Amino acid sequence: MKEWEKNFRRVVPYTPGEQPKNANVIKLNTNENPYPPSPKVMEALQAVSRDRLRLYPDPTASVLVNAIAARYEVEPECVFVGVGSDDVLAMAFMTFFQSAKPVFFPDITYSFYPVWADLFRVPYKKIPLAEDFSIRPQDYYPANGGVIFPNPNAPTSRYESLEVLEDILQHNQDVVVIIDEAYIDFAGPSALPLLKKYENLLIVQTFSKSRSMAGMRIGYAIGSPGLIKAMSDVKYSFNSYTMSQACLAMGTAAVEDEEYFQEMIRRIRRTRDMSGQRFKELGFSFPEPGANFIFVKHERSKARDLFALLRENNIFVRYFDQPRIDDYLRVTIGTDQQMDALFAFLKKHL
Ligand code: PMP
Repeated sequence: MKEWEKNFRRVVPYTPGEQPKNANVIKLNTNENPYPPSPKVMEALQAVSRDRLRLYPDPTASVLVNAIAARYEVEPECVFVGVGSDDVLAMAFMTFFQSAKPVFFPDITYSFYPVWADLFRVPYKKIPLAEDFSIRPQDYYPANGGVIFPNPNAPTSRYESLEVLEDILQHNQDVVVIIDEAYIDFAGPSALPLLKKYENLLIVQTFSKSRSMAGMRIGYAIGSPGLIKAMSDVKYSFNSYTMSQACLAMGTAAVEDEEYFQEMIRRIRRTRDMSGQRFKELGFSFPEPGANFIFVKHERSKARDLFALLRENNIFVRYFDQPRIDDYLRVTIGTDQQMDALFAFLKKHL
């Protein structure tokens, strides 16, 4: 080892899903939306003047913050925006999880959480989900340094009711509780109404899934002004200009096109319901899906082999070689045509 290498920060990075170069792939592996964003998003980009690009963007991202605040009926002081919800979540880990006690999150969850915890030297404890992948609220009662989980959960797609969430909040009023709602628009009601009762609740959402803008990298958090101020102070100590001029214009246009947003969600939920039915007919089982993906297990075929076979045939899904879930495949809901191709292949090969 070189002398200077002793001073390096060593981390095991998060592994993102594969982005194949081949355009012929049926891509059901990273929970992207199969439909493009609202056409108003491109109009907004074209309206950005060339001269505007000469200048730094607004560090407070106020047009976008105000549009999100209006859409969710909260004050702008309650909104924080970042470069995808990954950036927002990283800032939240850095800001709120400074306790010596461990932060709690489920054993089966978004695999970025332990990576941020290691990066920011946050102690953590993985709390096992029940056999059916549900969260047991009482497991979150013991003293901790904070709580974070996605709802619906990833990769299981399971949605927990507001009663479960409120049970956890009631027993965790002295720490920050983060609910990662990356997929909430495909599921039941959001925890947003709970913000009125719990000042220590932070809700994180994204434009990557329901608003079809994974490529633009826009995420946001909604919480009490005290939480948002603390996160903003950390962000301004790191990088003032996180949201580019293009992001601000396109993101604002996306939030303002409510009709398009609702229509895309309807379409994906319809395809999800039909896909669930077809998976069942082929001998797959899965937890009730709340997100834009289904977490399936076949009665006979091994997930690892099926994953490899699909991949050889240009159908990409996600496989996690991890305890408790190595029998499962996570399949993103694509267009009806993409799902037809998937099911035609499965029917032939199972
Ligand atoms: N949270 C969860 C649970 C996710 O699955 C993802 C997508 N990988 C994210 C957050 C981050 O999404 P983005 O950074 O695109 O907003």
